[in-house]
Order: sequence, then structure tokens, then C-alpha cells
Amino acid sequence: MDRPKPAYLQEVIKLTALPDQSLRSRLIGCAVGSAIGDALGMPLEFGAPRSPDDYVTEMVPGRLPAGNFTDDTEMSLAVAESLLTRQPLDGEDLTRRFVQWHKSRPPDEGIQTARVLSWLEKGENWQSVSGKIEREMPDSAGNGSIMRCWPVALVWWADRSQRITDSVLQSQITHPHPDCIAGCKLVNLMIVDLAKGASPLQAFDASLQSVVLSEDFRKMLNAAPQRGRQELKNTGWVRHTLESAVWALLNTTTFEDALIQAVNLGEDADTVGAVVGALAGAAYGVEAIPQRWRSDLQGEWPVNSGNIWRETDFVELADRLMTLSLPL
Ligand SMILES: [Mg+2]
Repeated sequence: MDRPKPAYLQEVIKLTALPDQSLRSRLIGCAVGSAIGDALGMPLEFGAPRSPDDYVTEMVPGRLPAGNFTDDTEMSLAVAESLLTRQPLDGEDLTRRFVQWHKSRPPDEGIQTARVLSWLEKGENWQSVSGKIEREMPDSAGNGSIMRCWPVALVWWADRSQRITDSVLQSQITHPHPDCIAGCKLVNLMIVDLAKGASPLQAFDASLQSVVLSEDFRKMLNAAPQRGRQELKNTGWVRHTLESAVWALLNTTTFEDALIQAVNLGEDADTVGAVVGALAGAAYGVEAIPQRWRSDLQGEWPVNSGNIWRETDFVELADRLMTLSLPL
């Protein structure tokens, strides 16, 4: 009689069913790359843009020890762990995980996220809070949801429609502004196009055509690749982060250069690092990420648990996410 196969064996069997190993490397690169970009940008957050002769190119300490990731990766891990237990994404489950993280008093929670999660902490449901955000903070369009959207792309790499639905949902809980929602769709469409072998320019053009954007946002993104470095503001506004991310990805040809260009813009350096890391990791694959950065990557997850996450944990997570939607 056939006994059910243990879970780890099911994952191994599913991994061998992936269409090719380069897709796997690129999806792993997305997860590892995002955490690495966050950690590389951490010491540069809120700083002025650096001049080329003064670029930070190594993991250096900031308010955390060198190599540590921050809220960007922590919230991504909350999205990832929610997806591991329920697919498609369940708004209530994800809200619970965000609130749990908020209650751990993470030191670097974004302003908009902190405000929204303090409402959700009181037990209001996410749908009514989402409506309240639109009424009380109609112009708030921070980058807090594009930094954490990549786990959705890893689960739904083979299902475009579910990828879009869950990209929207994970944003709506804290960032319902149309620019934030459009930004999450754009990032996750690009990640999968890149992972399937499109060039950065092809992935950007194709994804831009598929997403509904306001005219001025579209204009800004279209102009992003031709911007001069000194024109980029790189604030926590979702438009600025995407502008910088597109600029860095399309004006470089390696993971390392894309990340160095992005995080040295300063200001919201860790978040642009997380976004560019996800995109460039998907474009070039995990092997293209410098080993010195991979060895330095670390961070405590869950916050205050004493449990330290390293590169291998992100690899394992990515493998689990990318096989969730595959039939056995
Ligand atoms: Mg951060």
C-alpha cells in the first residue's frame, strides 16, 4: 500500500518537476537578493547620496551590526509565512502576522505601516481599516508594500492572475493607495518575467504595459532609465523608490553594480536595496550575488526570538514557496 510521502520528500519531488534549474536559481536569487539589498542599504538609510569615490560596497554596520536585514525583510517573511500556511493569500491571516510583528516593537517600522498596524492591533478588521486609510490618509503612498511583495511572485510564478490578485491584497492591508497597488503589481510581474529569462528592459517594458497607472506616474517611470543619478530623490514615496529601482536595474549589467548604485542613493537606501535586490536577484540568479555579501547576511526572525536567519534559510524558504503551487 502506498503511504503518503513525507512533506520534505514532496518538496524534493516537486523541485525536480520545475521546468529548469535556472528558473529556480533566479527565484532563489530574488529572495536572497532582496534581504541582501536591505542589509546593504541599512547603514545608508537617511544618509545623503554618496559620491562614486565614496560608495559603500561592503556590508558595514549601521544602527545594526553589519549584514543585518531590517523591517523590509521582516515584513516579507511575514507575507511568506502566511503564504506557506494558506494559498491564496488570506487577508486575516496576514493581518494577524503583521500585527504580531508590530507588537514585537521592531525598531524601524515605517511611519504609515506603524500607524495602520496600531489601528489593526485594536482588533478592527483590515477591510474597514483599509477604508479608513483611504479616507484619513488619502495621499499616503509609501513604499512599505512594494518592499515586501516578492514572496507572492515566488508562490505564483506560474499563475499570473493569482499573482496579481495576491500582490494587490498584500498591499491593501496597509497601503491601499492606487500607486502602491500598481507598484506591487509591476514589481511582481517584472520578477517573474526576469526569472523566466527576460532582460531587464524587456521585463520593464512588458510589465509597464500590463499595469494601469496614472498618467504622471507612468511618465515618471518611462523617464526613469534616462535620469541622471543626481536627479533621483529616493525618498520613502513609492514613486521615488520605483524610479530609483528601475534606474538602477536598467543602467547596470550585474547584481553587484545594480545594488551598489541603488543603495548609495542614500535616503530610503534599505528599501530601494530590497526592491532592486529582488529584481536583480531574479534577473541574474543567486550564483551572481557576491559570496562576501551572502556570507554576511543575517537577521533575527521572528523579532526577539533569538533565532538567526542566514542565506541558507532564504534558499530553503524560496524552494518551499516556489513549489507550493505546483501539482504533485
Ligand atoms: Mg528598513
